[in-house]
Amino acid sequence: MLKILFLIFLLFLFVTIYSFKKRIDDILDVLFPPRNKRNGDKNSPDVLIKCLNCGVYLPKSEAVKKIKLNGEILYFCSDQCKKEYNSKK
Ligand SMILES: [Zn+2]
Repeated sequence: MLKILFLIFLLFLFVTIYSFKKRIDDILDVLFPPRNKRNGDKNSPDVLIKCLNCGVYLPKSEAVKKIKLNGEILYFCSDQCKKEYNSKK
């Protein structure tokens, strides 16, 4: 009987430690956002690019891309800017 109680206690301890660890991980993620993990691409660092429509600078990974027929890539800060740039032409 004592053995069973001990096993239940161990299980309880394990669950408590596990959820506590998860909570710490969540807090650490908020304090130190894992940038590389989010972008998932270490080979291309976050270069700042300029929106062709409004001139705002933003990280390349967050930019809206438009690929031209000749292979040239145009960058915009938002879909709105992309549309405005297209309608200007
Ligand atoms: Zn823009």
